[in-house]
Amino acid sequence: MTVRLKLTLWYSAVVSLTLIAFSFILYTFLSYSMVQEIDRELAGRAVGVVRSIKVVGPNWFRQQQIVLPDVDVFGYPNTYLQVVDPYGRLVAKSSNLSNQTLPLSEDTLKLGVTGQSFYEWLQVGGQRIRTYNYPLMAEHRVVGLLQVGQPFSGIQAALNRLKWLLWLLSGLMILAAGSIGWWLARTALRPVEEITKTAALIRQELNLHQRIAWEGPNDELGRLSATLNGMLDSLEAAYRELEESHAAQRRFVADVSHELKTPLTTIRGNIDLLRKMGDEHPAIRQEALADIASEAERMSRLVSDMLVLARADAGLTLSLQPLPVVQILQQVGRQAKILAGQINFKIDIDERCKDTYIMADPDYVKQLLLILLDNAFKFTPPAGTVELSVACGGDRVQVLVKDTGMGIDPGELNRIFERFYRSDKSRPVGGTGLGLSIAKWIAEQHRAEISVESELKKGSVFKVTFPVLKQMHE
Ligand code: ADP
Repeated sequence: MTVRLKLTLWYSAVVSLTLIAFSFILYTFLSYSMVQEIDRELAGRAVGVVRSIKVVGPNWFRQQQIVLPDVDVFGYPNTYLQVVDPYGRLVAKSSNLSNQTLPLSEDTLKLGVTGQSFYEWLQVGGQRIRTYNYPLMAEHRVVGLLQVGQPFSGIQAALNRLKWLLWLLSGLMILAAGSIGWWLARTALRPVEEITKTAALIRQELNLHQRIAWEGPNDELGRLSATLNGMLDSLEAAYRELEESHAAQRRFVADVSHELKTPLTTIRGNIDLLRKMGDEHPAIRQEALADIASEAERMSRLVSDMLVLARADAGLTLSLQPLPVVQILQQVGRQAKILAGQINFKIDIDERCKDTYIMADPDYVKQLLLILLDNAFKFTPPAGTVELSVACGGDRVQVLVKDTGMGIDPGELNRIFERFYRSDKSRPVGGTGLGLSIAKWIAEQHRAEISVESELKKGSVFKVTFPVLKQMHE
């Protein structure tokens, strides 16, 4: 059964019950008060009649007699009057009864003789008559019974008409309620249908851009639409992320194959050369072997870089520990001096860093700084300068790697952190194009920020900002 049908049925059932209860109460109350009204009237008339009745005797001359005025003088066209003696014999009756009499049962007579007044229903010539029986008393004795009756058929007919009217109106109203309920349920449920349709469309077309168009108020359905739209936003974002990561993975595999292909080709070429001419030309052999060694080294660097990134992709998290900044910088400085060659290398450690600690993985922080320094040395001519400096202040530690090298094209600045990205100008220098992406990942792991500023032919500055763990004062 559909919700719409259920709602309509419930609605109609409630309306029907209410109407039936209302009609029943109305009908019962009206008929009760009508009878009450008649009873009051009958009692009033009986009192009026009784006042003018005389009871004579008994005496020497005659028996006891009930002397009635002409009951018709009371002039109640619709009221029947009848007087009987204690034996049930008719004494007088109103002329509107013509040749009929009000029936008198034994029980009525018995009860009347006891001196009680009471009401009863009588059936005369197919008419229902409400009767009031009133005992006539003389010297504390019941000498007769006055019956005052009024036909109830007129009222009964009106009540019957009312009953039918109530049935008819109730039926019509139940029908109307059903139709209105059906319409209301449709109106209320239309947005749900819309939502279902949109959801089905999204499932069919796998189109996560689709949203539920809700223009109504922010009621339950509005909130449901908003929640579903929010869920679709999250789904779309997750799906996009997944697609991007798939694409990145595909790109990575393609780049790796490409990067590995070049050294392998060089190695194979050199091996062929060695086979052909190696024995006769020692110089060529030396050159070929040197090439093979350098390419092999390049490949092993590439593979170890890729391993780091693969671990990063697999969700590797570094185990950070509190480390004194000065100690790390000094160690990195010592290693950098070896790499510097002819380049003028300077190291400048801020006095304030003396007791500053950061949360770091020592090996990875060193790797990060050495990647930056290695690049600086690679892309700076022999007469140039590379400077490693660290400044401490507030809750940050700022490490700068400054060089006076070839600089980076402004258009390439935001691409150099991508995997395998190498600018055309830097190609002859060699490298894997993975260094800065590893540096970026290490920085992220340390909740550090890495950025670069550069000017072509003037030099570059790489900045890494670490959050300070604590400042220890002795
Ligand atoms: P690699 O150095 O192995 O090529 P990186 O990811 O470390 O790879 O660097 C990517 C690119 O960024 C380099 O190829 C180079 O073009 C540019 N780059 C990085 N550091 C510098 C620098 N200090 N000066 C000029 N160019 C740089």
